[in-house]
Amino acid sequence: MNTYIEKGDEIILPIPTFAMFKFYAQLAEARIKEILYTSNLTFPAKKVLTTINKKTRLVILCNPNNPTGTPIDRKEIIQIIDKAQKYNALVLLDEAYYQYSGEECLDLIDKFNNLIIIRTFSKAYGLGGLRLGYAVSNPEIIKNMLKAGSPYSVNTVAMYAASVAIDDEDYVKWYVNEVKRAKKILYDTLAKLKIKTYPTSGNFLIGIGTVKQTQQLIDALNEILKK
Ligand SMILES: *Cc1c(COP(=O)(O)O)cnc(C)c1O
Repeated sequence: MNTYIEKGDEIILPIPTFAMFKFYAQLAEARIKEILYTSNLTFPAKKVLTTINKKTRLVILCNPNNPTGTPIDRKEIIQIIDKAQKYNALVLLDEAYYQYSGEECLDLIDKFNNLIIIRTFSKAYGLGGLRLGYAVSNPEIIKNMLKAGSPYSVNTVAMYAASVAIDDEDYVKWYVNEVKRAKKILYDTLAKLKIKTYPTSGNFLIGIGTVKQTQQLIDALNEILKK
């Protein structure tokens, strides 16, 4: 946002999503075009595509999306980046949860000149308090981002921790599997209690139930934990 967004620039933002996008877009005084996820919480691909026009400066995609867990089809991501490129708009693709979904688009960086992928050490690496993430893009965009960013943005402790964490692939693999195992138990329990859920490829899910069902869920999970 600091690098590319000026007052009045148009940003396409599918909602609900991670709150920080809107926070920084508002700080930059952008015009935010919010597009609702469908009532089944699927990604509104067609709407996003038809909303892109010559006024669009940035399209924000979150795959999988926080808080819905919705995955976006790779084909749709490519269509959006492609159309945005034709209109000189950037695409910010947030892959904070890519380890859980197993889907990533790093390879598209070389195919398009308008793609920025952002990731974090806060989720699968469990290092939330360190406030460390990274962006991947082409050299020109990265050069511009470095110009607009603070030269003191990352502290030494965080850098040290990240360099150790990134080498420990086995731990992340183990942890992601553990989450998947727990997710299945949670899904099965929710299904037994007939609590409605939506497809998620993140390490979280949305379920809709009554207060009574919620209490039953807590009780059931406590029973499982005791075992
Ligand atoms: C947690 C999260 C982040 C990363 O936040 P940090 O500031 O790195 O902790 C980014 N995007 C999404 C969608 C998230 O859920």
